[in-house]
Amino acid sequence: MEPQVSLPLPVPNPDNQGFWDACRRHELVVQRCSGCRALRHPPRPGCPKCRSTESEWHRVSGRGTIYTYTITHQAIHPALKGRVPWTVVLVDLEEGVRMVSHLVDSSTEQVRIGMPVEVTFEDVSEEVSLPYFRPSDQGAKS
Ligand SMILES: [Zn+2]
Repeated sequence: MEPQVSLPLPVPNPDNQGFWDACRRHELVVQRCSGCRALRHPPRPGCPKCRSTESEWHRVSGRGTIYTYTITHQAIHPALKGRVPWTVVLVDLEEGVRMVSHLVDSSTEQVRIGMPVEVTFEDVSEEVSLPYFRPSDQGAKS
């Protein structure tokens, strides 16, 4: 029997520790600049708009739409064996921040640019939960 292989897990650093702490609580947060109030992601030490190095964590809705996606049919990492096709998505959150993630609970035929999605969390270890996205019809506007 083959040993269970897991995906490489994120290694928190001082800039993104708050993001991963929130994911562990199943909350999605982004940085908000303390100077100009702009939201940003991924976490980084300074604001690209006003250069302030002060920021706070801002909880976001977890709702958004797919900006674009790609579907991987080959297990490019041993941990993905049996988990392909694997859909990588760029999600535009309602709050105007773009985030890279993985689409779950969806067939590859279902995924579309502009598709409404919502965050969901997978507890991959005792310390780490990863934010993924799944289809949502709450964001659909007729
Ligand atoms: Zn700023």
